[in-house]
Amino acid sequence: MPPVFQTRASPHFDIFLSPPELGGGEGDALAAALASNWVAPAGPMLRKFEQRVAEFCGVRHAVAVSSGTAALHLALRAAGVEAGDEVLCATFSFVASANPILYLGARPVFIDSEERTWNIDPALIEEALKDRAAKGRLPKAMIVTDIYGQCVDADPLRALAEAYGVVIVEDAAEALGATYCGRPAGSLGDIAALSFNGNKIITTSGGGMVISNHAKWVDQAHFWATQAREPGLAYTHRELGYNYRLSNLLAALGYAQMDYLSARVAARRRIFERYRAGLGDLPGVSFMPEPEGFVSTRWLTCLTLDPPAPEGTAEKICAKLHEAGIEARPLWRPLHEQPVYGGAPAYGGAVSHRLARRGVSLPSGSGLTPADQDRVIEVFCRHFPV
Ligand SMILES: *Cc1c(COP(=O)(O)O)cnc(C)c1O
Repeated sequence: MPPVFQTRASPHFDIFLSPPELGGGEGDALAAALASNWVAPAGPMLRKFEQRVAEFCGVRHAVAVSSGTAALHLALRAAGVEAGDEVLCATFSFVASANPILYLGARPVFIDSEERTWNIDPALIEEALKDRAAKGRLPKAMIVTDIYGQCVDADPLRALAEAYGVVIVEDAAEALGATYCGRPAGSLGDIAALSFNGNKIITTSGGGMVISNHAKWVDQAHFWATQAREPGLAYTHRELGYNYRLSNLLAALGYAQMDYLSARVAARRRIFERYRAGLGDLPGVSFMPEPEGFVSTRWLTCLTLDPPAPEGTAEKICAKLHEAGIEARPLWRPLHEQPVYGGAPAYGGAVSHRLARRGVSLPSGSGLTPADQDRVIEVFCRHFPV
């Protein structure tokens, strides 16, 4: 399948898509962790960071790990997914949402988005579950992504999950700080994964967390993340484990970053509104919707360039922004269209396909200055329609 977008190999950027933003308190937090000599994937800051994030998300248990991808891997295994099982997965997502399915030897079944939220479509989930049930093989779990920081429509998903006995794994990597009907992202499924990668809302440079109200699942995740070493001084291993634990140093960084979380979300939402004011009147331009009851982090400002803008406008605008040193990106390419997932079954696909061909994400880091944002808007307008 030909690539949806061709962008230049390695353009030089001076305005990045989503760089980290430090608040000032991180240096002291890191220095204190260094002084304590807990420079290891163990130590007191891990517990503190986990408790703080769990409390923020309104869940009881958490374990900090080395990446969001590791968190998803552990969450999926805790959910009981084994080799040969089917797992439903949002097709409009980053590849890290689905890769842990293959790590476990399970099989993805991709589900398209709905227009209303750009997230996994509950009607298609229902169709898939009915269909799979008729074939006598229900999936163990569904991975639902809070895409670009907007929560999934959790209530209908919950009803379906309960009716069919399927575990919901929430990929909240982009959504820490978002809410759905007042409930925090990360609390909407049975178990969730967060990411603290450098491009996310807050960062530990690299890191992630498994959070859930199921104590047993989080305990298991902790156990597997530390090489599945059995209790006691002897080295005994009955199960396969991984080296996935987060460093105590990075937990200190994350703990300090939590001070700024609400301000970071507010900044990204402000940036979104400023783009909407600057670009929203261009013909064919529409912004990612945010339905009543949803509060997105607006992790990235996303828009689509629909008719009268000709097909290919999104790609051309990205190229022009790159020439001006501005990092803009197409939207996620649907996972069922990825070569690595060739042949995986999919329900629907037209919505994510259109978003990938017509969509652009713009520099949205919480530290983006108004002057830099004006430059993005100016270059965008100058080349529209291309
Ligand atoms: C970033 C991201 C991940 C993976 O997180 P890492 O910490 O980079 O491993 C997973 N899913 C989504 C939707 C993401 O945006």
